[in-house]
Amino acid sequence: MADIVVFPEVREAILACGGDPINTCFQCGVCSATCPWGRVAGSPFNIRAMMHMGRLGYEGFETEDILYACTTCSHCGARCPRQVGIVDVVRAMRNVIGETGSIPKTLRAPVGSIKANGNPWGQERADRRLWMKDPVPEFTAETEYFLFVCCTSAYDGRSQNIARSVARLLDRAGVSYGVIGNEEQCCGESLRKIGAEEDFTALTRANIALYQKKGVRKIITTSPHTLFTLKKEYPELGGEFEVLHYTELLASLVEQGKLTFRARPETTVIYHDPCYLGRHNGIYDAPRRLLAAVPGLTPTDFEPSREDSLCCGGGGARIWMETKPGMRFSDQKVDQAVKKGAGVLATACPYCIVMLEDSARNAGCGETLLVRDISEVLASALA
Ligand code: SF4
Ligand code: SF4
Repeated sequence: MADIVVFPEVREAILACGGDPINTCFQCGVCSATCPWGRVAGSPFNIRAMMHMGRLGYEGFETEDILYACTTCSHCGARCPRQVGIVDVVRAMRNVIGETGSIPKTLRAPVGSIKANGNPWGQERADRRLWMKDPVPEFTAETEYFLFVCCTSAYDGRSQNIARSVARLLDRAGVSYGVIGNEEQCCGESLRKIGAEEDFTALTRANIALYQKKGVRKIITTSPHTLFTLKKEYPELGGEFEVLHYTELLASLVEQGKLTFRARPETTVIYHDPCYLGRHNGIYDAPRRLLAAVPGLTPTDFEPSREDSLCCGGGGARIWMETKPGMRFSDQKVDQAVKKGAGVLATACPYCIVMLEDSARNAGCGETLLVRDISEVLASALA
């Protein structure tokens, strides 16, 4: 960490942005020992050192491979003996960067696109419905659930199959759901992770007003990142909704006998816990129960898994940044899945799918290790 300059006002700005948990850090280093970047040779990122820099008011942390390396996976926070809200501190430090207009160049494109088009993918606002091949119901005041299809599954060609699969499963189970369509826009999770706090606040207020005008009370999300943002961050700005990830709802529908699956060829399915479904929202069992409901599939786990699951590397806005080959956490997951003889690597997050599929392709096993969202596994096995 060369070229360090001390600015007391930086420390004050971090505290003012909600980074006060930094004061309880006593520099034990447990976080650095837990952090997945510790497994990556050549990474300059060290969370303990970054906490030290922030606490003393150093500058020089605002680069893609230091402050913006953190995937906000929250593995460190779960182990910190002082229960420091490390992800909150990272967010506060990024807010300071956002306020000074020094967001890394790569991240300015998704921020600009969300502001201009309502999505981070540089796509037209009017194309938000293009994921639908079959008609999808419109949300009305009589509809029970608003289905919030995240921007990735609305616009990214690969990920659109996740949105279609979730809709098929909801149709089959007779769920009352609907979409708002072209008036919908990004939930804002990337804005907040990047540090564009003012833009996040403006977007969130607009979304809350739209949902309230439409009479939304319950929301199903396709992405655990959206789940986190709508469930845990929207209430800060007055948006109180009942928010569920689709795996939670489907698991209860399976238990009620409203969804059944036909036998699939004998296959070992290894399940990757997305950080924002597992550690951030405590959802570990519903996805596993869903996989176990398909005859022929043998679910298995990564080691470690659940609370100790290794992050795919795509959270905390890393999905918008390039991670050099050999430095991707998802490569380690694919390697282990292959060694365990899995035929399918299943997960329940569009970002994880992007990261893991890329790693499987680069490892040359994209044909033999299928990376699938749980919704896709289930939709292809509908009885
Ligand atoms: S584990 Fe907690 S107390 Fe220890 S260095 Fe990290 S943040 Fe500080
Ligand atoms: S949140 Fe994850 S990536 Fe960020 S410092 Fe903690 S363990 Fe490392």
